Amino acid sequence: MLTQNLGYPRIGGHRQLKKACEQFWSGKIDLTALNSVADMIKEQNWQAQLEAGIDLIPCNDFSFYDQVLDTSMLLGAIPERYSPLLSANSAYNKIELYFAMARGYQKNGLDITAMEMTKWLDTNYHYIVPEFVADQTFKISDDNVFNAYSDARQILGESAKPVLIGPVSYLLLGKEKEAGFDRVDLIHKLIPVYIDIINRLKKQGATWVQLDEPCLVLDLSQKEKDAFIYAYKKIADQTGGIHILLATYFDALLDNTELAVSLPVEALHIDLVRAPEQLEEVLALAPDSLSISLGIVDGRNVWKNDYQKSLLLINKAVEKLGKERVIIAPSCSLLHSPIDLALETAIDPEIKNWMAFAKQKLSEVSELTRIAEGNTTLLKANIEAIASRKSSKKVHKPAVKARVDTITDADATRNSPFRVRQRLHHERFNLPAFPTTTIGSFPQTDDIRQLRAKFKKGALTNEQYETAIEKATTDVIRWQEEIGLDVLVHGEFERNDMVEYFGEQLDGFLFTANGWVQSYGSRCVKPPVIFGDISRSNDMTVRWTSFAAKQTTKPMKGMLTGPVTILQWSFVRDDQPRETTAAQIAFAIRDEVLALEKAGIGIIQIDEAAIREGLPLRKAKHTQYLNWAVKAFRITAGGVQDKTQIHTHMCYSEFNNIIEHIAAMDADVITIETSRSQMELLQAFAHFEYPNEIGPGVYDIHSPRVPATEEIASLLKKAAGLLPARNLWVNPDCGLKTRKWPETKAALENMVAAARQIRQEISVEAVL
Ligand code: GLN
Ligand code: ZN
Repeated sequence: MLTQNLGYPRIGGHRQLKKACEQFWSGKIDLTALNSVADMIKEQNWQAQLEAGIDLIPCNDFSFYDQVLDTSMLLGAIPERYSPLLSANSAYNKIELYFAMARGYQKNGLDITAMEMTKWLDTNYHYIVPEFVADQTFKISDDNVFNAYSDARQILGESAKPVLIGPVSYLLLGKEKEAGFDRVDLIHKLIPVYIDIINRLKKQGATWVQLDEPCLVLDLSQKEKDAFIYAYKKIADQTGGIHILLATYFDALLDNTELAVSLPVEALHIDLVRAPEQLEEVLALAPDSLSISLGIVDGRNVWKNDYQKSLLLINKAVEKLGKERVIIAPSCSLLHSPIDLALETAIDPEIKNWMAFAKQKLSEVSELTRIAEGNTTLLKANIEAIASRKSSKKVHKPAVKARVDTITDADATRNSPFRVRQRLHHERFNLPAFPTTTIGSFPQTDDIRQLRAKFKKGALTNEQYETAIEKATTDVIRWQEEIGLDVLVHGEFERNDMVEYFGEQLDGFLFTANGWVQSYGSRCVKPPVIFGDISRSNDMTVRWTSFAAKQTTKPMKGMLTGPVTILQWSFVRDDQPRETTAAQIAFAIRDEVLALEKAGIGIIQIDEAAIREGLPLRKAKHTQYLNWAVKAFRITAGGVQDKTQIHTHMCYSEFNNIIEHIAAMDADVITIETSRSQMELLQAFAHFEYPNEIGPGVYDIHSPRVPATEEIASLLKKAAGLLPARNLWVNPDCGLKTRKWPETKAALENMVAAARQIRQEISVEAVL
């Protein structure tokens, strides 16, 4: 039985790559120094995989920024706007072009925008979206993959396995930049280049090539399916003598199973963590020539593998295929998991014994193989660890489970319908038409960040820290009053991150010291780990919200993060359904909502920034997900009195296919991102006749640009043409924490002026 890995984290155990890239960008180190960091990381990664006893070890999985961007470089898919950077051909020019495509270029009199970035399927990793034009051409334009193979071969010998994004997924994950053609048709131009690449690798000595085709787990049109058939037949016909491994991951093949097993490749990799049930069908349909790579160790989470469970799957496969045709592997590239659990010295040892990061997952792959081949002594420790997690009091809290088990519809429903609540809110708050507010955070200056860091380190007393936060909060309240905002916020100065802040105060969460994963380019995130039943033992936000409320006579909006967002941006439990964890978080947030209400806070915003990104890859699963996600939100808000106004916020702009679920959340007010699309997305809300109040973001906070009053007023007029004016709020697109003060002040002053102007121009029907 062979073992393999599909990809390894490339940021380095201490984020060396991040630091090196950022130093290179700011001119502090040169290309030689940058390359030597890269070489060090590659070599360490290969050594770790060799030591773990992996048979097929990926190379070309390293990237300075993103593997899809690397593929665009390799294939010469370089958008026209970068041509001024194409001329010279030194190594330095090449990397400059590469980073320009990733990050934009403003130098030497040039101003070229970056390529678009989007989420890699349903992960939190972002890739650089390939851009295609009608007369797109492809040619081998970069030697990285060949160099990576020859470097790897020196260390790994025959084990070195080059990895490429497969041709069909490469096209599907890209975008047409002009009308009049379909990128799928580019497959005919693309395949000859892939064939050249594969044959060159074969000449260098490669015995396997891994082609990643994650799009095989998506809903595919017949034309897209045909592209797979065409591509892989051509490759098989023209690249004899090298084994192709076709890698799928993140979901089941479902209706693409027949297609996938019929492609003329040596081996097919399937994700048995996300979709163990697909093994049966794949085994039944696999032709005699096909080996199956069992993606059995979770590449996207931090938990120890349950060997006994995995062995059932392995044995089933071996029985059907024989050992020679079974390969054991992680479910997907380990890019999505933190690197080394051994670096975590502060995690409770009992819990640490249940966990595995990338390095440990490699050992699991090789141990599982040895166990399957008869070495059962390796099983004992694993069985004990799994049993200890199953029964630990740190994980299992009967009271939390009981509360979730007995959710009623009433828990998730406000007392009265929106119309009734709306009248009460208008009476209670007596806000003007087109009320103005912000999304929560105000600029987090270096001073504020340092203040929190110092306090965390123990360099400030509690009193010093609190006095400083009180001052920042009071200042921002005074300023909001001065410019005439209607509903104020406290500014979130005490918060480092909207998920971490709550995770740190809830039971059932833990935090790592080095559990970084790449989010995009040099940006890494360190998600909290949800290990146990979640409960709230203390108030989390009441102290700062009440303090803020006392500084003003205007309404102060309390600010919370919603359950789906907390879930989505954490490593979650794999021993219970996501929806159960979401419901547990929901009850904890609900208690916080009630505590705020009791403290006299009349308006409470529960952010659900990530509800849309949790959508499953397949449409057929959307409704089920949305049902539990919406219910989780409704639990958080369901306990308050009618007179309390619940807001939610979402920072994206595609609502078309989920609008009815957004409405079902029944938030009294929703604030959303709309300014970049010129209010276009409001069409969805208008067409659906969205019943509740809504604040379409009137300016883009992702840019320092200050919008003019007129510009904001005209967006508001547009909005008022689409939705009942009395339901409209006026606010920016998102929180302001990444902005600087000068532009924030100017933009909000213009926003308030625009609201005042529009109140003169548009008459608003009273609420009945
Ligand atoms: N309340 C948060 C803030 O203002 C919301 C951030 C977000 O939506 N990402 O920063
Ligand atoms: Zn937002």
